Amino acid sequence: MLKKLVLFDIDGTLLLTNSSNRRILIDALIAVYGTEGSARDHNFAGKMDSVIIYEVLKNAGLNDEHIAENFTAVKNTYIELLKQRLLPEDVELMKGVPELLTALSSREDIALGLLTGNFEGSGRHKLELPSLNHYFPFGAFADDACHRNDLPAIAVERAYNLTGKKFEGEEVVIIGDTEHDIRCARTIQAKCIAVATGTYSAERLRAHSPAALYDNLGDTEKVVSHIVTI
Ligand SMILES: [Mg+2]
Repeated sequence: MLKKLVLFDIDGTLLLTNSSNRRILIDALIAVYGTEGSARDHNFAGKMDSVIIYEVLKNAGLNDEHIAENFTAVKNTYIELLKQRLLPEDVELMKGVPELLTALSSREDIALGLLTGNFEGSGRHKLELPSLNHYFPFGAFADDACHRNDLPAIAVERAYNLTGKKFEGEEVVIIGDTEHDIRCARTIQAKCIAVATGTYSAERLRAHSPAALYDNLGDTEKVVSHIVTI
């Protein structure tokens, strides 16, 4: 019987991409808007891809209307370029991730999904390169909402449609590498397991009071037992 819904962030949690990802977004921005805005130095961690695009272009003086007019074009260009140019060697899996996903997916009391600031097209491509997509039958993505805080409720609804179980409160565990993951868990009274494998240090994550905090996901047994008892 299903007891827990575990929702994984992608970047910094399951995997890291090298500088190619940023380069590809820059090229898509230039192709569509004629400027990369502040994309070269912008902090992307924990942010929705859609929000990142607006932020970097506003920093170059573009207004909301101009950005919105070409938003679908830049999104599609970015995803298309990512599929062409982001290769398996550009992706580093975080420690313990394959073992953890194998362990969690073999349990009948756990459902797995994604909760990520990636667009579905880009997130699925990143996961496809190390063959992780099959672990995640559904997810909530940047396509679904303007704010990460709106994604947990969407993910719960999709889990219900797929499994027939309405996961509530502490039955939902969100695993992520930034304060944004911790904050969005609170919107549905879910538990957040923070992991310091992204750009945030353990100390910085601890300040946001996650339910649990790990340096990495390397200890499969410990993480699984924590998830089921949290
Ligand atoms: Mg992340």
